[in-house]
Amino acid sequence: MLNQKYLYAPNDEHNRNYLIGELFSKYPFLKKECIGVSHCGREIPMLSFGTGKKVLFACAFHGMEWLTTLVILRFLDELLESISKKNFFCGIRTENAFHNRTLCVVPCVNPDGVEISINGAESAGEYCDSIKAIGSEKRWQANATGVDINHNFNAGWKALKALEIKNGINAPAPTRFGGKFPESEPESRAMARLCRNNDFIRAFAFHSQGEEIYWSFGKYMPENARLQGELLAELSGYTMSEPDGLAVGGGFKDWFVETFNSPAFTIEIGNGKNPLPISDLEGIYERLKQMLLISIVM
Ligand SMILES: [Zn+2]
Repeated sequence: MLNQKYLYAPNDEHNRNYLIGELFSKYPFLKKECIGVSHCGREIPMLSFGTGKKVLFACAFHGMEWLTTLVILRFLDELLESISKKNFFCGIRTENAFHNRTLCVVPCVNPDGVEISINGAESAGEYCDSIKAIGSEKRWQANATGVDINHNFNAGWKALKALEIKNGINAPAPTRFGGKFPESEPESRAMARLCRNNDFIRAFAFHSQGEEIYWSFGKYMPENARLQGELLAELSGYTMSEPDGLAVGGGFKDWFVETFNSPAFTIEIGNGKNPLPISDLEGIYERLKQMLLISIVM
């Protein structure tokens, strides 16, 4: 079990680094690489282990959605422990399963946004004043320059941009401003580069509102994506959904599906008001851990 003081607390940079450090000291076979650097100079690390086909987990695209990081770090700890002790985990002998799989985890895609939502605009250095001028720093979903990372990928971006403008979002904002052009931001560029340089068989983006699983993007429906989504929905009790309005396009999952024609899923881990409270962590984890494991090995 990870240190509870850091696990059951808002997951800012300090706490996140502590938990990641703890995973490394417990499981020396875990690897780490830096896939990019945010506007404020925060590294975006990726953790990985296993051999074989690669599956990607990515958390905290949005500032207030840091509970996604905690769920996945909690999962990683139990999974790695079962591998190192050669135990079963959710009925699966994980040591064998990970001869055929590599799991790659980006615990926090948007480290500046998470920091702003937890610790305020002051944590964004030179961007502090512009964030204060925009306002709503405690409700911050975007990155340090007010671009929503999940509106900044090159999938239906122009149509989404038109919709943003129609909804009065035409400048940096706490949420839903897609930037001046696709991949204008270091965080979205880091994710896109990571995927172009690795042959991921499927990808998962974790968000925190709705207890839903999004699996398609417009006419793009990769082979087996529906079937895999249905299995994940069955295991979690979450609903398979197709997004609408300002939730269509520009997202990481949309871009992955369109670019690689491989399955990608957005998993909305909970329900309520962002940020989901720490008290939701154990319930969500227990509900999702089997689905998370199957999502890698299926
Ligand atoms: Zn989100």
